[in-house]
Amino acid sequence: MKVILLYAPFCTPTMMPYSLSYLKNFLENNLNIETKCLDLNAKFHTLKFPKLYAELKAIKEMNQYNLLLFAKLLETLERQSREIYSENNWNVVESKAPEFLKELVEQITREKPDLVAFSLVYSSQCFYAKALLQALTEKGIPCIVGGPAANSKIKAICPYLKNEVELVEYIAKNFEKKSFTPMQKVISSKFLKYKEENYNCGTIPDFSDYVMENYFTLEKMIPLKTCSTCFYKQCTFCTHFADVPYLEYNIENIRKTIVQSKAKYVYFVDDMIAKNRLVELAEMLKPLNVKWWCQLRPTKDLIGVLKELQASGLHTVSWGVESGNQRILDVMKKGTQVEIAAQVLQESHAAGIKNAAYIMFGFPTETKEEFLDTINFLKQNENAVDLVTTSIFGLQKGGKVYANPEAFGVAQITETERTVLDTSITYTTSIGMQREDARDMRRRYIKTIKNIEKFPRVLNYFKEQVLLW
Ligand code: SF4
Repeated sequence: MKVILLYAPFCTPTMMPYSLSYLKNFLENNLNIETKCLDLNAKFHTLKFPKLYAELKAIKEMNQYNLLLFAKLLETLERQSREIYSENNWNVVESKAPEFLKELVEQITREKPDLVAFSLVYSSQCFYAKALLQALTEKGIPCIVGGPAANSKIKAICPYLKNEVELVEYIAKNFEKKSFTPMQKVISSKFLKYKEENYNCGTIPDFSDYVMENYFTLEKMIPLKTCSTCFYKQCTFCTHFADVPYLEYNIENIRKTIVQSKAKYVYFVDDMIAKNRLVELAEMLKPLNVKWWCQLRPTKDLIGVLKELQASGLHTVSWGVESGNQRILDVMKKGTQVEIAAQVLQESHAAGIKNAAYIMFGFPTETKEEFLDTINFLKQNENAVDLVTTSIFGLQKGGKVYANPEAFGVAQITETERTVLDTSITYTTSIGMQREDARDMRRRYIKTIKNIEKFPRVLNYFKEQVLLW
């Protein structure tokens, strides 16, 4: 029995996918089967942008990397790929084949899989995934989908599984009898390595199946998770933390993963990491001599430990600053204070850590004056801010604002059906700026923001690449 774990176009092709690497090792620890990770997203980019990959190779071959040239190349890739993604997504909406569909389907069929498991992490992957699912289903190849971006339209095409345990059970239940030894003898009872209640959860994500040259990066960087979800879970705008109990992963397995991968750059994709856990991680990471990145809230408890974190290789933190206005932070339930956030950024900068700030404009009820408080906050802390990642608040199902719109001054909600993605949601507010006003204000202040940044702005799209700067 062979399972292909598949990552579909389109998202940035700079890093090997975490989800597939995790699933591969979990499946192999719990089932007697063969697995292979196929990153068709990275493969698509090599087919579509051979000239850019050739230029990347030339930079790699230099004695010392020219990071300015690399940033320019990333800008070109970002600009060109945006158009290509859009054209191909329209093809799928209009039931036409996206580019390279035949070639990518061949990559899958060449492996002769018994099952193809899609991991959808970004909603932008749903378009191409839909085309692949239809092509594979026509060929009689069974498929399943999972991941946070799998929406109702995709779930209507093939079975959806919530997690790795469901995937193990699905395979054991549906494929056991189809598995044969070389002597053509059924080995049904040998399929499951462990009893249901005793799954082997000592997972060490396996990055060995990927082709390094397919990644648009100068150095191998691996994404890693250290816990199951955000322990805080309270921000009222947030829909991206997993609704599962908070569990910290075994630190020795994290160490083994890094050592086995041979990567010298580690990108911790956790929504947030608790302070005690950070200290524990720093202790483990220090002797490995790696550079690492993580996301944190700028809270008081971190004051005093940042130097120690930097000494263990912490290179950049993307801080959930969100706003420079206390009332907005309070309605967001961010659990942070403006003055403390400034102190944390300053201390982090003084420790030698690079600071990226997530800023969210247009949270319902935000006024123009409150927007300007955020701009002033950034200006006052200009010396300590290297990159600013802005977003405009969007209403999303599953979030606290959608569940209780009146409490946040959200007046009228309009939902519009879409072909591949879930419904789009627009709204108006009874107080403060409308969404369009916030966009307009951001346009007016983008120059101010750009002047604050020290890193090339394109790193907002390729966040892990900041580790090279
Ligand atoms: S925004 Fe970050 S800290 Fe807040 S709930 Fe979401 S994941 Fe947790």
